[in-house]
Amino acid sequence: MALATLVHERGIYTLRRQTEMRVALDELTAQAAATQRGGRPLLDDPVWRRRLGRCEVMVEMMAAQGYRTAERAASGDAPAESSVDKVLLANVEHEVLGFALDLLGPFATVARPNCLDRERWLNDYFFCRTASIYGGTGEIQRNIIATSILGLPRS
Ligand SMILES: Cc1cc2nc3c(=O)[nH]c(=O)nc-3n(C[C@H](O)[C@H](O)[C@H](O)COP(=O)(O)OP(=O)(O)OC[C@H]3O[C@@H](n4cnc5c(N)ncnc54)[C@H](O)[C@@H]3O)c2cc1C
Repeated sequence: MALATLVHERGIYTLRRQTEMRVALDELTAQAAATQRGGRPLLDDPVWRRRLGRCEVMVEMMAAQGYRTAERAASGDAPAESSVDKVLLANVEHEVLGFALDLLGPFATVARPNCLDRERWLNDYFFCRTASIYGGTGEIQRNIIATSILGLPRS
């Protein structure tokens, strides 16, 4: 029962967080599109475009994986795949909220009008560092993936 409860907690929480990451990324995309760096639109820079693209792919991947796990859970299963969701969740949060922090740039430390709400994004960024700990650490999730999904030996 305890193991099944943990499996469901990871899956359902990831599903919720993917919605929040979708909303966050849409906001960051709009802000990035309106941002100038060095007198040029930020998104003219292929490095920023690539990072934004990577965030987009990761959020979509997390959503697809989350819905797949939820479908299995709804049919009465307790899929160990929710550990994949949890590893993805931590990686997506680090990527998207790391993007927010870099978008703020030096304004992460001082307030500026017409900019991202720095307190909100800083708070989200620092909290996201806990995503690879709560609900079972990344190492524990990888152990579950190795033994329960890939069938690898325990030692
Ligand atoms: C923000 C936050 C919210 C939380 N909310 C809750 C909550 O609501 N309810 C609740 O019950 N708990 C909660 N926790 C606790 C959380 O579940 C634990 O911190 C987490 O599961 C890790 O356990 P631990 O702290 O005992 O670390 P430990 O088990 O002591 O692990 C320490 C380190 O050793 C590694 N490690 C341990 N065992 C292995 C192994 N077998 N193989 C490889 N590496 C290993 C871990 O990956 C980690 O890096 C929360 C934690 C945080 C940070």
